[in-house]
Parts: sequence; C-alpha cells; structure tokens
Amino acid sequence: MKITEHIKQAEGKTLFSFEIVPPVKGQNIQKLYDNIDPLMEFKPPFIDVTTSREEYVYLDKGNGLLERKVTRMRPGTVGICASLKHKYNVDTVPHVLCGGFTREETEYVLVDLHYLGIDNIVALRGDAMKHEPQFTPVKGGNNYAVELVDQIAKMNDGKFLNDSEEMQYKPDFCIGVAGYPEKHFESPSMKSDLQRLKEKVDAGADYVVTQMFFDNQKYFDFVAAAKAIGINVPIIPGIKPVAVERHLQILPKVFSLDLPDALVKEVEKCKTKEAIRQVGIEWAIQQSKELIDFGVPTVHYYSMGKSDNIVKIAKEIF
Ligand code: FAD
Repeated sequence: MKITEHIKQAEGKTLFSFEIVPPVKGQNIQKLYDNIDPLMEFKPPFIDVTTSREEYVYLDKGNGLLERKVTRMRPGTVGICASLKHKYNVDTVPHVLCGGFTREETEYVLVDLHYLGIDNIVALRGDAMKHEPQFTPVKGGNNYAVELVDQIAKMNDGKFLNDSEEMQYKPDFCIGVAGYPEKHFESPSMKSDLQRLKEKVDAGADYVVTQMFFDNQKYFDFVAAAKAIGINVPIIPGIKPVAVERHLQILPKVFSLDLPDALVKEVEKCKTKEAIRQVGIEWAIQQSKELIDFGVPTVHYYSMGKSDNIVKIAKEIF
C-alpha cells in the first residue's frame, strides 16, 4: 500500500516508521532481523531501506602495489525490501539513487520492484563518492533527484525510457523525496533549496521525508515555508536519537545541521556511555511528543544499527 494511503487511513493519528541500513557485505542478515523484531511491536506501516553509494577499495597485490576496485559495501537493498515485506507483512520503501546508476539500470530496478509488489520508493540523488569533490552522475545517469522522480513518474504513466516498448502495466509507485529543514549543504540558500523541493513535487513526488533535525522549530518553519510556496504533500519528520559522544561532531559534519546547545550540554555532562544514550532517548521523546501535538503524519526514526534506543522511545510514544 502507498505511504500516502497509510497516512490517509490513519485519519490524523501519527504513525511510527523507521529506516534501516543494509548490513555490511559479508555480515549475517540475522543481526538486522534481531534489531527489527522488537520494533514490530509498534506496528510500523512501512520500513525504509537505504542504498549505499559505491566506493573504492584497495586490494594488496602482494608486490607492494595496491589494486583499486569499485564495490558496494552495503548491497542488498531490493532483496532486503522483499525479505522484510515477506517476513513481517509490512510495506518496505527502497531508497533509489541517481549516483552510480545509469537510467537504464534504474529502469531495471524499477521493473524488479514492481514485480515484487513494492509500491513506494524514495528517490534521491545520493552524495558524491568519498574521493570526489562533488557529485558526478555516471554517463547516462540522472543528475538530480528531480530527474529520477521524472523517470519514475513516466513509468507510472506507462512509459519506458525512450518509449522503447509499449508497457502493458502501470506500476503506480508512490514517490518520496528528501527535504532539508536546515538546507541541503550545496544549496546557495534556503529559498533556492525549497524551490528545488517544489520542482521534485511538481515532477510527481507524493511526499517528503526530512533530514534529521534536533530542534523542532526548524521543522515547523520548514513546513510553513514549503506550504507558502505551494508544497502541499505530507512532510514526514526524520528523527535520530544521539547515541554516542562523537555524534556531537559527526552529525553536524555529515548531515550539515546544528545541534541545540542544551542537547550538547546534556551530553557533555554525561560520565558514561549509557548516560549519553539516555540523553539521546529523552531528547527524541520530547521531540516526538511535540511533533505529534503539531499533527505530523508519521514520526520516522533513523535507526542505523542498534534499535534498543528507538524501542525505548516508541514505548513512551506509540
Ligand atoms: P537533490 O534533490 O537532487 O538536491 C541536491 C542538491 O542540488 C541540493 O542542494 C538542491 O538544492 C540542488 N538542486 C536540485 N535540483 C537542481 C537543479 N536542477 N539545478 C541545480 N541545483 C539543483 N543518501 C544515500 O546515499 N542513500 C540513501 O539511502 C539516502 N537516504 C536519504 C534519506 C533521506 C530522508 C535524506 C534526507 C537523505 C538521504 N540520503 C541518502 C542523502 C542524500 O542522497 C544526499 O543528501 C544528497 O546530497 C542529496 O540528495 P537529494 O535527493 O536531496 O538531491
């Protein structure tokens, strides 16, 4: 079922949803299931599964030289979506990237997703590869998320790439896109970034999921500014509990966001790892309560590995 239908069916009640990251290549998938199992008690209508950019690895050739190879360290997004859907009877939402894929390869994935009965996709550009100064699409790939949205919307209209074949089915994917309450780091201004978001919605996006934020006012302002320029689709807030001390540096750097001083102070006061995790849980509980009062359709949690903290938050809220 589409995310937008789940939201409609909930009739104003806020839903619980979360995002997981596929295991590193070679790790057992059981660990992922062990983390998801306790979250299913809170009846998420959907689970997002991220996709990773390819990266370079250097293989020791034994003669003092290294050989550079390209690999995806966290493969399996489509397979995990199918497996979770089957195992838990839940809708799964694969993240589909522009980066690293030609439009042709993307079409191939979209056909697979349709055959698997997957109704939702989050369409993203992806970041630059680690060694690249800026994002570069592969030859024949989509350059911005808006182009990927357009490709999916065309398929929904019954058109393959280049009108190569006549389609006898229409997939009707529900399309999510990313939004940034604190602005995407490459964007020259908030106004310009919002306009880009509107282009994605105008191209066919059905809903927005936000980057994580730790100050709800940023989300409230973002929603108001989006509405003011005619973005009328649901805007789902993404929440991540701070879990370790190094998040104070990593989260602002990687996700280009600010952490509120009060949160930083609370974390810095902590004497143990457990205490830091508890601060993150309590902060996320307060954020979630306020967001629910505001009437958000879903609170979407970034679980990124261990889920015990999300379970504690969900127990208080859902
Ligand atoms: P876009 O919407 O294409 O925007 C990228 C930048 O280009 C923005 O600054 C925008 O303002 C600008 N822009 C857009 N269109 C144009 C245009 N026509 N001309 C000029 N500038 C333009 N990354 C992953 O690798 N895997 C994931 O699974 C993943 N999941 C994510 C989930 C969420 C909810 C979010 C918020 C992010 C996720 N990301 C993921 C990160 C995301 O890929 C990066 O933030 C990426 O840098 C931008 O992706 P986008 O889809 O927002 O890009």
